[in-house]
Amino acid sequence: MELRMDYFMNRFSVILGRKAEKYEKCPYCPGNEEISGPADLVLVSKKGALTKKSDEDGEYVRDWSTRAFRRRNPISDPNPPQTYSDYPHYMEPSYGYHYVVVATPKHAVGFHEMELEQWENALMAVQSMVKWLYGKKGVSYVSVFANYGRKLGVEHAHFDLVTFPRIPPRIEEEVKAIQRYRKESGRCLMCKVLSIEGDGPRQVLTTGYFVAFCPWAPMFGWEFWIAPKRHEVSFVKISQKELRDLGLILRSTLGGFVKASGFDSYTMVFHIPSEKKSTAQFHWHIEVYPAEMEPPTGKGLGIFVSQTPPERVARVLSKHSRKELSRLLKVD
Ligand SMILES: [Zn+2]
Ligand SMILES: [Zn+2]
Repeated sequence: MELRMDYFMNRFSVILGRKAEKYEKCPYCPGNEEISGPADLVLVSKKGALTKKSDEDGEYVRDWSTRAFRRRNPISDPNPPQTYSDYPHYMEPSYGYHYVVVATPKHAVGFHEMELEQWENALMAVQSMVKWLYGKKGVSYVSVFANYGRKLGVEHAHFDLVTFPRIPPRIEEEVKAIQRYRKESGRCLMCKVLSIEGDGPRQVLTTGYFVAFCPWAPMFGWEFWIAPKRHEVSFVKISQKELRDLGLILRSTLGGFVKASGFDSYTMVFHIPSEKKSTAQFHWHIEVYPAEMEPPTGKGLGIFVSQTPPERVARVLSKHSRKELSRLLKVD
């Protein structure tokens, strides 16, 4: 398992060199815990009270709300073959840990359908696993993302947490841009962006702590971002109240997106700073990319083509997301 760098650019490919294992039963479903193996974190919810547990010595905790375990088909490995080489064939071992956080015990319930309490539990598990992974040796960055839907071949909603020995290029670029802007103007670039997008034609939804908007220059049609309204550096330090609110805005906008677009496959990528390196000037956010809209030209050129202006996408997305939000708040 190796991390290869592009000839010219700060861009990497993980080469696995093996086929993914296939399972007859879903490894993420309750009752199939043996397939995934013991979980390092299990959250059990009983009568509104949440307990943190873990599987020990073949004893599996049942009736869980969410559980986190080492992925069987990882893209990084704590003991990779020590393969190094230099430019133009730069390569280093893909060293790290790959964990799965199962978002819900229900097999076919997507992120866009999950109940709010379930969202909150899943995000708590993600946050606590990110913290835990930063305690491990050689971890410079913990990435968080989720792929969901038919187009992506994912039926059971889960988050992937992958650690890397370096900061991913997209995150590093954003960190540098934010730092540069702060040096020049003394302000946070994302705060500046939010002061415009939070209340303009590309705004989708706001909740107590967060704002969702379509970016000015989207890579994909229906792309939207979610960011904390206040200047917030670290995802691992946000309160439970904020996590609950994050669940609310993600659930509302994803629900709105699926209803408005008729698509059901999407990727969520958390743009969070490293807790190890000095990226203290970041302002974290989450980016959502619909899977059905992937244009091949953009990848080849770094210039993406969108049929619909983000202002119009935001209008439709906003209408449906607001409907979802008020329905969710009524039910709760
Ligand atoms: Zn399942
Ligand atoms: Zn900021």
